[in-house]
This record gives sequence, C-alpha cells and structure tokens, in this order.
Amino acid sequence: AAVGSSPAMKQVKLEKESELRIEVNVNSSLRLRLLSGTAEIFGTEMPPENWLIFPPRMKFAIFTWYGATIEMQDNTETDYVADETPMISYVNVHAVLEGRRNRAKASASDADASQGPRVIVVGPTDSGKSTLSRMLLSWAAKQGWKPTYVDLDIGQGSITLPGCIAATPIEMPIDPVEGIPLEMPLVYFFGHNTPTVNADLYRVLSKELAQILERQFSGNAESRAAGMVINTMGFIDGLGYDLLLHAIDTFQATVVLVLGQDKLCSMLKDALKQKPNVDVVKLQKSGGVVSRNSKFRASARNQRIREYFYGLSNDLSPHSSIANFSDLAIYRIGGGPQAPASALPIGAQPVADPMRLVPVNINRDLVNLVLAVSFAKEQDQILSSNIAGFIWITDIDIPRKKITYLAPSAGELPSKFLLMGSLTWIET
Ligand code: ATP
Repeated sequence: AAVGSSPAMKQVKLEKESELRIEVNVNSSLRLRLLSGTAEIFGTEMPPENWLIFPPRMKFAIFTWYGATIEMQDNTETDYVADETPMISYVNVHAVLEGRRNRAKASASDADASQGPRVIVVGPTDSGKSTLSRMLLSWAAKQGWKPTYVDLDIGQGSITLPGCIAATPIEMPIDPVEGIPLEMPLVYFFGHNTPTVNADLYRVLSKELAQILERQFSGNAESRAAGMVINTMGFIDGLGYDLLLHAIDTFQATVVLVLGQDKLCSMLKDALKQKPNVDVVKLQKSGGVVSRNSKFRASARNQRIREYFYGLSNDLSPHSSIANFSDLAIYRIGGGPQAPASALPIGAQPVADPMRLVPVNINRDLVNLVLAVSFAKEQDQILSSNIAGFIWITDIDIPRKKITYLAPSAGELPSKFLLMGSLTWIET
C-alpha cells in the first residue's frame, strides 16, 4: 500500500470450533472487530461490533464455538484459519475445575474441603502455558469466580515486569489487548530472568508468596473456593524440574496440567504418585502457539518495561526525580563472599550465602538499571517484603552525589530500600 493510505479491509468467516490465528505486523497495529456470531480471545468474549486495536507484534487467536465473521485490516504479518485446536479438551478441564469450585463453595465450614482447585500449568517454552492459564482464569471469571493468578515465570512475566514472581486476583475476564490489570498485584523481586543465578532465593520468594496467599485465603472463603491458576517457567530440565516440584509442593497444587511433553508428564506422574490428591493431566499443545527466539523474548522484556513506565499506548506520564545518595539504600541479595579466598583460613571454602543482603555502592554502573522499591520499613524486613514498584536509574552524578530516576508517578517513594538485580532497560 502507498505510504499514508490506510490498509484495505477484509472479512473472515469462521466455522464453528475453528480459530483465526494472527500475528500483528511488526510496524503497525491492527484494527478488527466481530461483525456477527460469537467469538473469544483466549477465553474472553469479544464485544460485538466494537473495533479493537492490537499493538504491533502481538500474537493471538480468535476462537469461535458456534461460528463468527470477523472484519479486519488486511495488513498482518500472518493470519490464517485453523479448524484443529485443543480447545475442547481445555474447556473440559475448565468444567472439571468448575465442579470442584462449586463443591468447595458448598463446604465453606470445612477447612480442607472449602479449598478450590489449585491448578499449575507446566511445559516447555512456547507450549502455550501463559495462554492456557489465561483461558482458565477468564472462563472462571466469566462465571463469577475470582480465582488467583500466580505467575512464577521470571522470564516473561504476564502480571508485572520480568524478574519477578507475582500473584493477583482475576475479577473479570482478561482484556485481550490490555492483559492483566496491574492494580493490586502482590510482587516479589527476584531480579534476574533465569533462576540459575540464585535458585535458593527463587525458592524462598516462592514460599513467601505462597504463605501470604495461604493467609489471604484463610480469611476469604470466596477466593479460597475459586482457587489458583499457577503459570510456570518453560525451564523444565535439571534445576528447572526441581523448581517445578518445589512449586507444586509449596503452593499445594491439586491439578498439574502438562502441556505438550510426554516425558515431563510421566516424570511428574511418577514423582507425585504418593500424593493421591494431586491429578497430573496431559494436554495437547495448540498448533497456534508461536515460537519466540531469544531475540524476540529480549525485546518482549524490554517492551514490558517500557509499558510499565509509559503505558501500552504511551498513555502514562512517568516522572523524573532526583535524590541524594544518602536518601536511598540499595541492596542486592546473595552473591559471592566479600573476603577473597586468599584471606580465608587455610582449607576454608569461600561460601556464597544466597540470602545475604549486600549493600550496593552507588556508581555510574547503576545507570539504566531497573530497581525494585521494597515495602520494607526496616532493613531486616527486606528479604521477606514484597515490592511496591520499580524505578529506572537515568543518571548518577558522582561529584554532587545525586541520583536521577524515572518512576511511574511523582511523589516520595514508599521506602528508601531499593533492590537491585540484573534487570536493565535502554529507552528506544
Ligand atoms: P514461555 O514459557 O516461553 O513463556 P508459554 O508456554 O507460556 O511460553 P505462550 O506465551 O502461552 O507460551 O504462547 C506463546 C505465544 O503464542 C504467545 O505470543 C501467544 O499469544 C501465542 N499463541 C498461543 N496460542 C495461540 C494460538 N492458538 N494462535 C495464535 N497464537 C497463539
């Protein structure tokens, strides 16, 4: 098309139980709407006739149970219709979960029986874990439940920034464009996008999160009955597998959904056979799941950070502030020992305490780092505290001892305690 002209429109007719798979163009957004029939995007019903605008690079599917016609701009990277999908098996899982929620609700007086299903979704990278989690949550929310979404995937992060584990109640079907609302997530900062950097810390934070949720559930029959959907990392070998078992145990999962890998499924069945109250269910991976290479993942992480400060469509105005070095206390967790091996007694091994709180010297190396703002009031609370949000360091003035940073809004930070990991961002 000529520069400046708007792309041509087209109509796509979908037969029942088929889906339209779309990858939005890299450079331009996509406008489309539901013209007739009914259809849903990852579990959330499309509004009739309203135009929806999808940002560049987004990958998604429009599924219809009974048939639909879509009107859309004809400028996607790819779009095609598929009539083979695993959606029936997914909605069957949803029906079983519904039954368990109803039973939990009816047994409100019994501590054990009043707990709704705790579903954990596992599988290799690009097996559709986040997508299945999202569908199960949206279908449940549509029926009036408020399930808790737990995201343990520090690589991508669908609730908050990468490098974090987080949980949030889902009170409405998830918006197909905006994603999960960021209003009240409970977030713990790990600081890196792979757990190998400090697996002990990952375990400790998972436990911390699980305990808080347990406490919230004990005082809230409604969210207790609705249960949880837990999304996990695509890292499933060695340490990754150990961390999956740890998560199943820590969050007391009752349903393990294994996407697209027979070996993982049989390993988990074997490992969990002593636990009769845990069901391990194998599910087919959707042919629509798009594989994302490491470059795409890195750019998705960047995009996520930009979105945190500027909003999905540049609708937020972050605020730049200046603080004195002495106003802030920056820490990282874990890491090598302070004393070099040569300074230790003969025979002693330098031990790296994974949970040690290490003060960070402020220097120019901090420029471009994204730091988490702790809710801790005292230094000894930092390890067990969740975080309020993030700031991005834009400048460090050594002679004047000043730090310039970007925050989502003006005003004082909720705490002077900041956490540093390896999360960086460069504005593009
Ligand atoms: P990872 O563990 O690597 O984070 P994942 O297993 O959670 O990945 P998803 O994020 O669910 O995988 O899916 C990968 C991509 O494929 C996403 O961009 C998602 O929107 C897209 N996708 C999933 N299912 C479909 C489908 N049926 N049609 C088109 N795109 C899809």
